[in-house]
Amino acid sequence: MEVIETDVAIVGAGGAGLSAAIAVAERDPNLKIALLSKVYPMRSHTCAAEGGAAGVAKDEDSLDKHFDDTVSGGDWLCDQDAVEWFVERAPKELARIERWGCPWSRDADGKVAVRPFGGMKIERTWYAADKTGFHILHTLFQTSLQFPSIKRYDEYYSTDLIAADGRCQGVMAIEMRSGQLKTFAAKTVIIATGGAGRVFPFTTNGAIKTGDGMAMAYRAGVPLKDMEFVQYHPTGLPGTGILMTEGCRGEGGILVNKDGYRYLQDYGLGPPDPWPRKKAMELGPRDMLSQAFWHEQQKGRTIQSASYGDVVHLDMRHLGQALIDERLPFVRDLARSYLGVDMVTDPVPVRPVVHYTMGGIHMENLVETPLKGLYAAGECACVSINGSNRLGSNSLTECLVFGREAGQRAAEQIGSLGAVNDTLVKERAEASRQALADLHMRPHSGESVSGIRREMHDTMESGAGIYRTADSLAQTCTDMANLRDRFNRVALEDKSAVYNTDLIQALELQSMVEIAETMAHSATKRTESRGSHQRLDFAQRDDEVFLKHSLATYNGQAAPTIDYRDVVITKSQPAARVYGGDV
Ligand SMILES: Cc1cc2nc3c(=O)[nH]c(=O)nc-3n(C[C@H](O)[C@H](O)[C@H](O)COP(=O)(O)OP(=O)(O)OC[C@H]3O[C@@H](n4cnc5c(N)ncnc54)[C@H](O)[C@@H]3O)c2cc1C
Repeated sequence: MEVIETDVAIVGAGGAGLSAAIAVAERDPNLKIALLSKVYPMRSHTCAAEGGAAGVAKDEDSLDKHFDDTVSGGDWLCDQDAVEWFVERAPKELARIERWGCPWSRDADGKVAVRPFGGMKIERTWYAADKTGFHILHTLFQTSLQFPSIKRYDEYYSTDLIAADGRCQGVMAIEMRSGQLKTFAAKTVIIATGGAGRVFPFTTNGAIKTGDGMAMAYRAGVPLKDMEFVQYHPTGLPGTGILMTEGCRGEGGILVNKDGYRYLQDYGLGPPDPWPRKKAMELGPRDMLSQAFWHEQQKGRTIQSASYGDVVHLDMRHLGQALIDERLPFVRDLARSYLGVDMVTDPVPVRPVVHYTMGGIHMENLVETPLKGLYAAGECACVSINGSNRLGSNSLTECLVFGREAGQRAAEQIGSLGAVNDTLVKERAEASRQALADLHMRPHSGESVSGIRREMHDTMESGAGIYRTADSLAQTCTDMANLRDRFNRVALEDKSAVYNTDLIQALELQSMVEIAETMAHSATKRTESRGSHQRLDFAQRDDEVFLKHSLATYNGQAAPTIDYRDVVITKSQPAARVYGGDV
């Protein structure tokens, strides 16, 4: 088996992974960097982000206000020291990537334009029309090309971390073009593999968002934190789950039910005011808006669409074609292409859709995991600045801020970690090879990847969706244990080596099954409602018991163990979340 020796291996080449790679290269050009990605970097999910990236820009805004919005948006589950650290660096990173070429949209006076976003009580979301993620990723990718020390391994699928002797010593990956498994013996590893929305059937997340990096860390003994918190975005296109960015509402779009009524006024989100408005309503946080949809559905006030179940309408007609074409050309195209609806002349049907994984790899000290030599950043990491409900537009900035820090930290600490242990690395590599060969060549058993994936989707949606109960979660936990067991008998149709997508999908399913189980068990144990985790049987937030992060620890073939850890409070004591007043 080929062994590739490197100083830093980075798994993932989206916003966080590229930021980390550039930071390592800038800090020490002598360090060897291996940048692995299961797709070409520009196909990473960061590219799909539409709306924008948050950072204080206006004179009337402040770091304290960004902090307050983030902490109350997260229903006080954010670690406040991390949020303070984040909001301070946010504008600097957004300015840095402008110097690297990111074309931020501008106001007529030449200043960077900022748009309102859900849960942000003042405009602070920088954008590049409605293709912000595309421009950020492009900027990072082209900047990374300047550094000869960054060696790319595109279309390499990482399977396992090499954890031995209390330390991470590398990562295993399949070169998809040849089917060969390779060992990356690395002094440090940074995981930047993004989220896990694909655990659910209806999601905005691209097909690659299967939580592989979270699962690799989990299997290596690093706990997954706050996995019960899964964000639903209120405005997905029915059928595909394609996102209608929050920028639609930021620019003035309204949500109405079957009677044409702006129903959010019934859910504590403030009185409706005429456009251009300044109050919360449609700019409330995502968890509250998605929950309001559910209640409208229970009251029979949603619209029944012929092919896609219940929807409400996102109405943008009053904005006019000129504004829509200037600020939201991409989403206009998407709605036309996928639903045949032109938002200039017609309201767009939308419904809540799984969008973001607040939980992730347990981080200590911002970017370090409890396993020495292992770092993480981006959506796969739980720092936690997102608490129980991430505010839209904080994540792109999170990738830049924490991706950079992970790179710098790895480069800084590498000297103290010393060489990897070749014998241990070889031993672990051999174990990975055997496990993979077993999956690859296993005789047919009747269990299929698509069958198990479908059942996982069904049980996660029915038992662990927007609203949960003890009974629904118990059923999901039972189903997931059963599916985990059945996964051990899954057999591939395709036994070939070259671009074996059957094999990759089986490995992705393994990640998702493990992650789904942590979500269901963490949700079962949290007998309160907070942010995106809503229990019909425990409707109140319970700060006495649950002002805590949950930590799910891997137990092989048994269910995960769930423990707790205190939330860091620095200056904002838990209070009621209030939206709908004047900004
Ligand atoms: C449709 C959509 C719109 C969004 N809009 C916004 C927005 O406007 N503002 C905002 O702040 N946030 C937005 N978000 C969220 C934000 O875009 C993501 O959280 C963020 O881009 C994640 O970046 P990342 O670098 O962590 O991961 P990603 O960009 O998802 O990249 C993950 C990388 O890991 C690699 N990878 C994964 N598994 C493996 C493996 N096993 N082996 C090798 N490589 C692997 C992939 O190839 C990829 O390169 C949006 C998300 C979606 C889905």
